[in-house]
Amino acid sequence: MVDFTRLEDINFAGKTAMVRVDFNVPVNDGGGISDDTRLRAAVPTIKALQDKGAKIILMSHFGRPKGKVEPTMSLGFLTAPLAELLGSPVAFADSCVGADAKAKAQDLTSGDVLLLENTRFHSEETDNDSGFAQALAALGDVFVHDAFSASHRAQASSEGIGRILPSCAGLSMARELDHLSQALEHPKSPVLAVVGGAKVSTKIDLLQNLVTKLDALAIGGGMANTFLAALGHDVGKSLCEHDLKPLALKIMDAAKKANCSVLLPVDVVVAKDFAAHAPHRVCGLDDVAPDEMILDAGNQTVEQLADAIDRAKTLIWNGPLGAFEMVPFDTATVEAAQYAGRRVKEAGLIAVAGGGDTVAALKHAGAADMFTFISTAGGAFLEWMEGKPLPGVEILKQT
Ligand code: AMP
Repeated sequence: MVDFTRLEDINFAGKTAMVRVDFNVPVNDGGGISDDTRLRAAVPTIKALQDKGAKIILMSHFGRPKGKVEPTMSLGFLTAPLAELLGSPVAFADSCVGADAKAKAQDLTSGDVLLLENTRFHSEETDNDSGFAQALAALGDVFVHDAFSASHRAQASSEGIGRILPSCAGLSMARELDHLSQALEHPKSPVLAVVGGAKVSTKIDLLQNLVTKLDALAIGGGMANTFLAALGHDVGKSLCEHDLKPLALKIMDAAKKANCSVLLPVDVVVAKDFAAHAPHRVCGLDDVAPDEMILDAGNQTVEQLADAIDRAKTLIWNGPLGAFEMVPFDTATVEAAQYAGRRVKEAGLIAVAGGGDTVAALKHAGAADMFTFISTAGGAFLEWMEGKPLPGVEILKQT
């Protein structure tokens, strides 16, 4: 378990908690919230702080206003839905620092909640400016970081403030850290990772780190094509980063040295068009025609993966095994994800997933609820898989 300060370690009675949340919610065309998962994720921490008698100030970024006030990126529209989820009112300060924020912070009594305007309306936020972090810190007594998804960036509201105030993890953050640590730092062996997605180039560090830590690594999706091509298979007009073939071989070599077995597709689904329902066929690795592209893994590959899942006690999943947005090229992703989900229930497999399109792919597979834990984070999850220290987590660690 990661040794970090938790909410339970701090006496909040009468204190003001500066809580970093991730309210960067997806919005629909009308400007409303299309998915309130991120609001809901903050509720347990806010309620726990209310129960502990704290005054609560919420900080978040929203969109990329690039240091300017951008009315379309105001957080004001979230007070009503958040108040409804909490069952208590939520006040709003129209700047995260300055006179209005100060006055409203001073007016708070125990249990009150104040949401500050978008921290990224100030360029000092992303610059991690110490004066700006000081201005945020001056509003409260304790920093509570509850946004794991923002923890890979050293910014004023997610890292700088933690250098000034006593700090702890919120409940969502603690849940993420506990599950991630259970999957990679202190896992039950054997550990298998499934890494899919489009390109090797976006996951080089991740693959290099994983092969040193795992018992097995299954590579799927478009990125597997680069490995297959590196091994001398003709991948036709598949998505393939030919310039990265030497790197693919290097990764496989590092895996061999570290006793990590690498599983690549043994059969593939090919089509001539990159489109849903395009005419397709299953073929062997040396049977891809020059005008065909690999869009999914075949049946035998899914079976190979199921066997690897059977052998594993811990599974980490990132990325789809094929072009899952287009039926029927979602088949391998759906079948393998459902199989993993069933092993969680039937065999006590610990299955953790996250990053990029992974949540969408597992939801599409109907397997998201079957996994032990799905991380809410994209970039932070990937950087964690890369083995990089996350600045927003480092400041929570007990020394
Ligand atoms: P990533 O963001 O790297 O996890 O990549 C996810 C994307 O990879 C999805 O949009 C998939 O459609 C795409 N993808 C997966 N397999 C393939 C493939 N064989 N050919 C083209 N795109 C793929």
